[in-house]
Amino acid sequence: MHFISTRGEGKISPSQALLKGIADDGGLYVPEFFPDLTDFINNMYRLSYKELAFEILSRFLTDFTEDELKMCIESAYGNNFDTPEVTPLKQAGKYYFLELFHGKTLAFKDMALSILPHLMVTAAKRNKTDKKIIILTATSGDTGKAALEGFANTEGISIAVFYPQNGVSDIQKLQMITQEGENTFAAGVYGNFDDTQTGVKKLFTDAALKQKIADMGFVFSSANSINIGRLLPQIIYYFRAYQQMVNGGEIKHGEKINFTVPTGNFGNILAGYYAKKMGLPVNKLICASNENKILYDFFASGEYNTNRDFYCTVSPSMDILISSNLERLLYDLSNADLVTKTMNALKNQKEYSFEYKADGFCGFFADSAEALKAIGEMFENGYLMDTHTAVGYAAYKKYVKETHDDAKNVIISTASPFKFSADVLRGLGCAKIPEGFASVYELSDKTGLPIPEPIKNLEKKEIKHKTVCGKEEMEKVVLDFINKR
Ligand SMILES: *Cc1c(COP(=O)(O)O)cnc(C)c1O
Repeated sequence: MHFISTRGEGKISPSQALLKGIADDGGLYVPEFFPDLTDFINNMYRLSYKELAFEILSRFLTDFTEDELKMCIESAYGNNFDTPEVTPLKQAGKYYFLELFHGKTLAFKDMALSILPHLMVTAAKRNKTDKKIIILTATSGDTGKAALEGFANTEGISIAVFYPQNGVSDIQKLQMITQEGENTFAAGVYGNFDDTQTGVKKLFTDAALKQKIADMGFVFSSANSINIGRLLPQIIYYFRAYQQMVNGGEIKHGEKINFTVPTGNFGNILAGYYAKKMGLPVNKLICASNENKILYDFFASGEYNTNRDFYCTVSPSMDILISSNLERLLYDLSNADLVTKTMNALKNQKEYSFEYKADGFCGFFADSAEALKAIGEMFENGYLMDTHTAVGYAAYKKYVKETHDDAKNVIISTASPFKFSADVLRGLGCAKIPEGFASVYELSDKTGLPIPEPIKNLEKKEIKHKTVCGKEEMEKVVLDFINKR
């Protein structure tokens, strides 16, 4: 297996793709083909999460030895999750929720970020990298913490995370600024997530800066979902969900199901698309957006136009207008020349049109009021959703209303409700919401659910990262950090 850039740059090995994160031509790495797992699916029903992970990852990471890959998988999924199922499938009425928030930072980013550091360390050894790696990450809240936690105290790798100063929840911010580990760093940026992500991408593609840090003995890499090492581990849980649906007697082997995915950067849902390409019986992938419904508009019209208002919603991890991973889908549906042209149009005109032929995706959206209402409604049915999952649920209901599709559907549940406790309380109809961490206690009191272990002592932790900067200062901040390494 080799990886190629969506903008045409030549083939590289899996471990090189992991280390580079983004191609020199600005494109994203994609596998040169998708392995067909149809036969494997017949025999996957008794496999554990780790066994599934091995089967899937080994088809892509072909320059890892079996032992290396198994070690990475054991380190990631051995005991970082609070349940041996890793991704429990919950049912409430006729709705199914695949819970991806049982890792250390309570959001679905843990699914990939608990293994990525191990993959990178292995890849660095394989490639005899003599430079120390600096992971640069932009976050809309959840990636940052999951990446900091994943990479903390990793030998030979340091990590700097940038988050939008006013674009993350109180709990998300607290999680990041209290991060321990002397190789970690987090800073707020004045601006929204797109400013932050664009700022980080600029640092990545700045040739002069790259040379400068190379002279200092460092090289950049990415823990964002532009890194193929984020995407591949996310394919696993789509197979897992299917396995759980069959084992639970909800569907028959071979029956097609739908997935509804609360979407921001298009990484999670793209992994579902890849799973489908590998033979998983999936019919529709329902792309759920909040008020920033640029993907909904794209799937409806083929027009991708970022010249629009940016909304801060109750689902901040989906407040994104430039969904990086869509580039990988466009590549899959066309070719490197067209992708390059299209991405240049995005850069220069802030918009593009692409002749999109429906191939299983459809977009639906729900605004903040609808999401909050959904939280109250679902809680009465015995299930507590976070604000992002609520967007998924509300969007799925609209999908059913419009299409009358009665195929079984799994809603991807992307975060613990405790990460967004203030807005979840609002959804439950609370009139007075306590500020900051007190909302976590209140949510626990109100619902009778225990506060998840990873954030129990969060308010008592020391604040370690106090930097807040403008987007034009990010380079300086990064250089300061590197200088201390
Ligand atoms: C990151 C995130 C999303 C969006 O996932 P993408 O892969 O960016 O589409 C949705 N919900 C939560 C809670 C997240 O952290």
